[in-house]
Amino acid sequence: MNTIAQNLERTLERIKNAALKAGRDPSGIKLVAVSKGIDVDRIKMALEAGVKCLGENRVQEFIDKYEVIGEDVEWHFIGHLQRNKVKYIIGKMALIHSLDRLSLAEELNKRAGRKSIKVDVLVQVNVSGEETKHGVSLEKAIPFVTTVAEKYPNINIKGLMTIAPIADDPEKVRPYFRKLRLLSQSIEERKIPGVKMEWLSMGMTDDFEVAVEEGANMVRIGRAIFGPRG
Ligand SMILES: *Cc1c(COP(=O)(O)O)cnc(C)c1O
Repeated sequence: MNTIAQNLERTLERIKNAALKAGRDPSGIKLVAVSKGIDVDRIKMALEAGVKCLGENRVQEFIDKYEVIGEDVEWHFIGHLQRNKVKYIIGKMALIHSLDRLSLAEELNKRAGRKSIKVDVLVQVNVSGEETKHGVSLEKAIPFVTTVAEKYPNINIKGLMTIAPIADDPEKVRPYFRKLRLLSQSIEERKIPGVKMEWLSMGMTDDFEVAVEEGANMVRIGRAIFGPRG
């Protein structure tokens, strides 16, 4: 077994243990292997080892890899998305994790309409309020979701995504994950047409176990699978 296959096995084991610790069914948790900065050969090793979903954060890098790897995997866009790049990825992504502003929603809606498709997105929430992070604030999240659902019929809001602050101890970020879960529940209770809180995308290499304990059902993991990025 190669290192990537071993890392993957170990990561899936850790996800499973975190789920069981929280009394959850491990099979309900989806792993997005974050392949940004990783070359196609190594990505292929991960695919051979059983990875089904890949996460990329740069449009050009995604396009280059998509040309080689194609549609047999589920592609997830996890990075900040500029409006003028939407046209290159629309219809190719299973899920865009980073809807964070109305101008982007408008462009996604327009490009999806031209292709007669719906685009599935998560709303990125800046739970910690750090200035360096993208995302809608906790306070504005419900009005934002409501407006997008009302104004943009080609967008399906499928859940929420957050990136926790960097911390030396993952326990320190537990409250941020908890807040995102509570927000997701409160949105679900409003039964907004076109909005389904199916996915809670939170947890990366340094904090995914805590995220799973707090209710994540989609984790975005890079380094634990591929090793450090160059
Ligand atoms: C890079 C990245 C990840 C994965 O980070 P690792 O620490 O390598 O697991 C997850 N989510 C987003 C949005 C990222 O940019």
